[in-house]
Amino acid sequence: MSYKNFKIETDQDGIALVTWDMPDKSMNVFTEEVLGELNAIVDAVVADAAVKGVVFTSGKSTFSGGADLSMIKSMFSFYQQEKAADPDGAAAKLFDLVGKMSGLFRKVETCGKPWVSAINGTCMGGAFELSLACHGRVASNAKTVKLALPEVKVGIFPGAGGTQRVPRLANAQDALQMMTTGQTLTPARAKAMNLIHQTVAPEELINAAKQMIKDGLKPVAPWDEKGFKAPGGGIWTPAAAQLWPAAPAILRRETAGNYPAALAILKCVYEGLQLPFDTALKVEQRYFTQILRSTEAFSMIRSLFISMQELGKGARRPANVEKTDLKKIGVVGAGFMGASIAYVSAAAGIAVSLIDRDEEAAAKGKAVSEKLVADSVAKGRFSKEEGEKLLSLITPTADYGSLSDVSLVIEAVFEDRAVKKDVIEKVEAVLQEGAIFASNTSTLPITGLAENSKRPTQFIGVHFFSPVEKMMLTEVILGKQTGDKALAVALDFVSKIKKTPIVVNDTRGFYVNRCVFRYMNEAYDMLIEGVPPVMIENAAKMAGMPVGPLALNDEVAVDLSQKIMKASIADLGASSVKPEHMALVDRLVNELDRRGRKNSKGFYDYPAKPAKKQLWPGLKELYPQKSADKVDMAELKERLLVTIALEAARTMEEGIVTDPREADVGSILGFGFAPYTGGTLSYIDGMGVANFVALAEKLAKKYGDHFRPTPLLQDMAEKGETFYTRFDPYKAERQAA
Ligand code: NAD
Repeated sequence: MSYKNFKIETDQDGIALVTWDMPDKSMNVFTEEVLGELNAIVDAVVADAAVKGVVFTSGKSTFSGGADLSMIKSMFSFYQQEKAADPDGAAAKLFDLVGKMSGLFRKVETCGKPWVSAINGTCMGGAFELSLACHGRVASNAKTVKLALPEVKVGIFPGAGGTQRVPRLANAQDALQMMTTGQTLTPARAKAMNLIHQTVAPEELINAAKQMIKDGLKPVAPWDEKGFKAPGGGIWTPAAAQLWPAAPAILRRETAGNYPAALAILKCVYEGLQLPFDTALKVEQRYFTQILRSTEAFSMIRSLFISMQELGKGARRPANVEKTDLKKIGVVGAGFMGASIAYVSAAAGIAVSLIDRDEEAAAKGKAVSEKLVADSVAKGRFSKEEGEKLLSLITPTADYGSLSDVSLVIEAVFEDRAVKKDVIEKVEAVLQEGAIFASNTSTLPITGLAENSKRPTQFIGVHFFSPVEKMMLTEVILGKQTGDKALAVALDFVSKIKKTPIVVNDTRGFYVNRCVFRYMNEAYDMLIEGVPPVMIENAAKMAGMPVGPLALNDEVAVDLSQKIMKASIADLGASSVKPEHMALVDRLVNELDRRGRKNSKGFYDYPAKPAKKQLWPGLKELYPQKSADKVDMAELKERLLVTIALEAARTMEEGIVTDPREADVGSILGFGFAPYTGGTLSYIDGMGVANFVALAEKLAKKYGDHFRPTPLLQDMAEKGETFYTRFDPYKAERQAA
C-alpha cells in the first residue's frame, strides 16, 4: 500500500523504515490525513509477518512541528459553533476528538512490534509525544536538533500522553519544569533526563535506530511491565513529599494563577502517577478537554499560534505586488537602533550599507555586530565561519552613493525633523527607481515626514523595538500616501528577518506606544493617589504583565517620557497631558535627575551588579501613602489592563489598527500584554464586551473619564458583538472563496 505522507522501505532484516515527508509542506505536521495514514501503517505493520520492527523518521531537515494549524482551528471552531445549541454534546464530542491522537500513539506503543523514533531534526509537541510512545528513541546530536513540549505557551498542554510518559521516564521535578514552561531541550539534555536512549552523529542515526531493534528491543513500554515504578518511586515517597506540596505554590509564584493549562499539567502528573497507565491517559484526556474549553486556551491559541503565523506569512501583504527578494539594504544612522537593525538584517543574509555622519561613527555601529557575533560564537550559537560571513555583509561607510543599488533604506538617525529631512533628501538623491524609504521614527508621524519626500508613495514607517535582536514585533506604519509597493517591500523585509509585522495607520505613538503610555499613566495616577509603589508593580505582575509600569518607564527613560509629554502639549494643547503627571515627571527629571536605568536612578535604584534593582525609597516620600490594607489589589490589576485595552479599542475605532489579530499580537509581542488573555482585544472579547463596558464604567466613576467606554464599545455591547465578529479578519477571504 502507498501513502501520501509516508514512504516505507523494509530491509532484509525485516525492519521497516517509515519516513514522514509531507509533499506539500516545508515541515511535517499532524493533520487528519496524517493521523489516518499513520493508523493504517500501524495496522499494516502488525499484519505483515515479515516486518520485525519499525524505524520512524522524517524526510525533512526538521522532524516535525507537531499539530497542524488547520486541525487545531477546526477543533476550536467546531466546539464554538456547537456549544451554544448543545453544550454537553459539544463537550462530549470534543472529548472524543482529543482522545484520537492519544489513542493512536497508545496503539503504536501496544502494537506488539518494536518502534524506534529516529529524531533527525527539531521535534515539537505531538511529534515528541509520538516519539515518547515509541519503544526506542535515538536523536541526532546535530546543533539544529531541539526537542520540546511547548504547548503551555499557547494555553494548552501535552495532551497526547505527554503528561503521563514524561514523568514515567524523567524525575517528576524535571518533568514538571519542562512541561509547565515549555522548555526546549538539546538532545544531550533530553538524554540526561532519560527521555531519549541515545544521541548519535547525524549520519549514524538510522543505523543506530535499526540496531536497537536488532539488539532485541522489547515492544513493551516500561509502564506496561509488571512492577513498574516511576523514577523516584512515584507520589508516596519522602522525595515526593518535598516536591508536591511546594509545586502548586511555585507555579502560582511564576504564573499568578493566570494559566489554567500549567496547573492542569500538575494535576495530570500528580493524579496520573497514582493510576494504571490507561486510566491515567483518560485523566489527561479529561483535563485536556476542560482546558480546550477555557477562554485562555481559545484566546492564546488564536493569537499566539494562529494569528501570529498568519501575520508572519503576510496576511496583510498586498497580493498584487510581486515578492521582493531583498539582497541589499541601506541603514542610515548607525546608533543604538541602526546598529542592531544592520545586525538582524545581516543575520538574515541581507547585505547592508551602514551609513552614519562619518566613517568612524559607522564603524562604531558595525562594532555592535562584531560584539554580538563574538558572543554568539563563544556560546556556540554559530560557527566562526558563519560569524565572519555575517560580518562581511555589513559595510560601514559615510558614502550615500553606496545606496544606489539597494531596494530598501531604513532611516534611524536622531529623532529630529530637520535631521531626518536632510537624510531623506540625501538618500532620495541616489535611490534607484522603485526603492523604498522606511523611517524607524518612534514619535514623528509618517505622513508629516513624507512631506519631505519627492516620492511619498514609496515612503513608509518600519518601527522596531529594542532590543532589536530579541523583540519579535515590527510595526509597519502607513502614511496617508504610502502605496502598496512600499507596504509589500516592508513586509517582505520583516518576513526575511523573521519578525512578526503589524500594519497600522499613522497616528502619534502608532499602536504599541499609545498602549504603553496608558499603562505608565495609570501607574502615575496610582502613585499620586498614594498607592505604595511596590503594590503597583506587584499588581501588574499578578495581572500577567512581564514588567511593572514603573520598571518599564525606567527602561524607556523618564526623560524620554518627559520629552514626549512636552511634545504632546506643544502639538495638541495643555489638556493632552494631566498637569499632575507632568509635575511628577518634571520633578523626577529636573529636580532629582532620576532619568531611569540609563543613569542608574529612576523609579528604581540600580546598584552595581550583582545587587538587584530596588524601588527607590524616596518615591514613597513624594505623596502621602495609603495604608496597604486600604488598597484593592484586584482593582489595581483591572485598572492596568482595562486602561490599555480601552486604548486598543480606541485605535480600532479610529481606524489606526484595522485587524483585531494585529492589535492582539502587537500587544503581546510589543509589550507583553498579559499573554493568557490573547491580547488587548481578546481580553475584551473574552470577558464579553458588555461586561467590559460595565467594568470600564465602574472604574470611570472612581478614577476618571479616561475609563469611559467609547461609543464603539457601547454599540458593540448593545448588539452583542465581539471585535472578531465586528472586524472579522476573514470576511474578505470567505467572500472570495
Ligand atoms: P541614536 O542617537 O543612538 O542614533 C542615531 C544615530 O544617527 C547616531 O549614530 C548619529 O550619529 C546618527 N546620525 C545623526 N544625524 C545623522 C545624519 N545626518 N546622517 C547620518 N547619521 C546621522 O538614536 P536611536 O536610539 O538609535 O534612535 C534612532 C531612531 O530610532 C529615532 O528616530 C528613534 O525615535 C527611533 N527609535 C528608537 C528606539 C529606542 O529604543 N531607542 C526605539 C524605536 C525607534
